[in-house]
Amino acid sequence: MRLRFLGGASLVVVGAMVAGCGGSGDEAVPAKAKIDDAAVMKQAKVARAAAAAKVKANELGQVPVLMFHRVVDHPTTQDDRTPAQFRADLERLVRDGYVPVSAADFVQGKINIPAGKHPVVLTFDDSSPSQLTLDEMGVPRPGTAVAILQDVAKKNPGFKAAATFYVTRDMFGKTTPEEKAQALLWLKDNGFDIGNHTLDHMNLRGKSQKDVESQIAAVQKLTSSLAYLSPVTLALPYGNQPKNKSWAMHGKLGNVSYKHGGVFLAGYTPAPAPFNKTFDPLGIPRIRAMDKKGDCAQFCSTAWLDWLKNNPDQRYTSDGDPQTVAFPKFKAPFVAKQFAAKALPY
Ligand SMILES: [Zn+2]
Repeated sequence: MRLRFLGGASLVVVGAMVAGCGGSGDEAVPAKAKIDDAAVMKQAKVARAAAAAKVKANELGQVPVLMFHRVVDHPTTQDDRTPAQFRADLERLVRDGYVPVSAADFVQGKINIPAGKHPVVLTFDDSSPSQLTLDEMGVPRPGTAVAILQDVAKKNPGFKAAATFYVTRDMFGKTTPEEKAQALLWLKDNGFDIGNHTLDHMNLRGKSQKDVESQIAAVQKLTSSLAYLSPVTLALPYGNQPKNKSWAMHGKLGNVSYKHGGVFLAGYTPAPAPFNKTFDPLGIPRIRAMDKKGDCAQFCSTAWLDWLKNNPDQRYTSDGDPQTVAFPKFKAPFVAKQFAAKALPY
């Protein structure tokens, strides 16, 4: 221990905390203290692992990324939900113990939800007015996806109004830059995430690198000029990947460049956890929000949510600590290398 005077007034005891900057280093720390520290750290880890085991945490498990399109009174396509159906979709997620996280947070492994809860990612494609329409005071119109989501979150504390909106040039039906800016800034101010869905909703399959990159960079340019934001993720129109998958991940047009953290497909399974080796940021699966009928008997949201409920060992369950990646020891071979330091097997 050394005593040091700072500013002539306060007495500061400097010990092990500054080892390395004073030169004397380790020999200043009594051996017993080091052993005690290690013992305390080990004990804390044992306690964290026990807490994780108690809630059957599985942060290498699967996560449903739900894909919504329009929320309208009279559905005309297989992708539309009515406001009542959308509300029921959300209420089911509440009952099943899900908490929404944005696509941006998901791909970056920022899954900060309570112990025992499961993450769900809510994504909205095509930036239609049925998702977001604001009145002149900036209040979402009742019946829009955003209004319903905020209402369900308000009535169910702990269920967050978090979602990602994949925008094209047609931003929520707005035509002027000012109105588009209003919509994007409102989403940003209210904690929502904005993703890239290409300027013209282009099918990227078979397109040249130049076409792919200019379609994506153009949205990046729009969102940054209108609302000072860069999308972290992209949803591929029709779920179609370009010839070289990485073109959707990073590229540029003139002086505008983009570098995404993840690219989403349009089907048909839950996604691996971002901490799992099987997670592929170039093609993250999503699940269409639809009842268990017709071609949705197996591969849309009701069917998959039933499956995850009936197979809890497959589902991502949080330990409540965003600093660790907790899982049953048996799954250890699946931890992605870049998260190994955070691993908490039990
Ligand atoms: Zn689309």
